[in-house]
Amino acid sequence: MLVVGEIRDGRLVPSSLEAVAAARACAGPADAPEGLLVGPAARTESGAFAAAGLGTVHCDADEALARPTPWAWSRAIVAAATAAGAETIVLAGTAAGRDVVGRVAAVWEAAGVTGVTAIARGPTGRLRLTRPVFGGRATEELEVAAPRAVLAVRPHAFAPPPAGTTAATASDLSAPRPEKDGRITGFERVAGGAGPELGDAAIVVSGGRGVRAAENFSLIEDLARAFGAAVGASRAVTDAGWRPVSFQVGQTGKSVTPQLYLAVGISGAIQHLVGMVGSRVIVAINSDAQAPIFRVADYGVVGDLFQIVPALTREVRKARGLG
Ligand SMILES: Cc1cc2nc3c(=O)[nH]c(=O)nc-3n(C[C@H](O)[C@H](O)[C@H](O)COP(=O)(O)OP(=O)(O)OC[C@H]3O[C@@H](n4cnc5c(N)ncnc54)[C@H](O)[C@@H]3O)c2cc1C
Repeated sequence: MLVVGEIRDGRLVPSSLEAVAAARACAGPADAPEGLLVGPAARTESGAFAAAGLGTVHCDADEALARPTPWAWSRAIVAAATAAGAETIVLAGTAAGRDVVGRVAAVWEAAGVTGVTAIARGPTGRLRLTRPVFGGRATEELEVAAPRAVLAVRPHAFAPPPAGTTAATASDLSAPRPEKDGRITGFERVAGGAGPELGDAAIVVSGGRGVRAAENFSLIEDLARAFGAAVGASRAVTDAGWRPVSFQVGQTGKSVTPQLYLAVGISGAIQHLVGMVGSRVIVAINSDAQAPIFRVADYGVVGDLFQIVPALTREVRKARGLG
């Protein structure tokens, strides 16, 4: 089994450790999963990656893989899977991870599955996978018949393993590069909140039309800052131009699956729900007790957000020792 870690801005992306947890959930005790890291930071980051419970970490430290194209990354993944003698490859379900699953599956002649939330082995040893489908309104259970599988696990579906004491055994890998490939020349960061990336965040605080005006959105941002959370928004907010479209959660925005999602002044239209219903715990604050958001909420507060949110922000800051 091979776990593919992702390095962004020279640091291991935390959800790579969730991929290790997923791999360990179905690997036998004598079958320590191996890892792959690419780019110039591969060796320095291999320690933290291995400590989550990996045997060897294959490192392709080529400078050209600092920002690998999906095609070059796929080549390295297949080379590492061959070196590891792996039959299953597990990746974090980040945008880059999901992007590469289909390519690797095609080249490696494997089944490719994204959005995986649980992994087990059936009595015959076949992989049994669970994932939400139809925007989280149903759960699909599937058994992989192909001998090889490439899996992307849904963010926050697996708790990262506690850091162990496994010493990293880094092994140099020099994967073949695609003969014809493009080159990523740069990234432009889209406007986002000051906190963590919306797609990766463990906590998301989203505001809707209930905040009434662009300037009131600072209430949402203050609460997000107190939690160390990312800021999201409904389409009503982005359509009104109160926040850029990069904040939008839902069918035509981002899909998020944080551990905690706070929906503030959001009614819970189906197009919003499909983007956040997979969150582990959902808290809704809304003045209308009949608002559909309460049907998916684990905790609901019926009341005026202009009173509740500042009080909640104060309490969260106090609880986190932020004064
Ligand atoms: C093709 C298509 C794609 C779409 N894609 C998306 C998408 O990706 N994401 C998305 O979000 N929407 C999307 N929509 C729009 C969606 O249908 C809803 O219109 C939108 O989600 C509504 O946003 P809202 O909940 O913020 O506003 P509203 O529905 O107007 O709800 C505002 C809520 O705030 C509450 N409220 C008002 N004042 C207060 C107060 N003082 N305190 C507490 N609560 C208060 C109200 O009770 C109400 O429930 C899409 C629509 C279409 C047709």
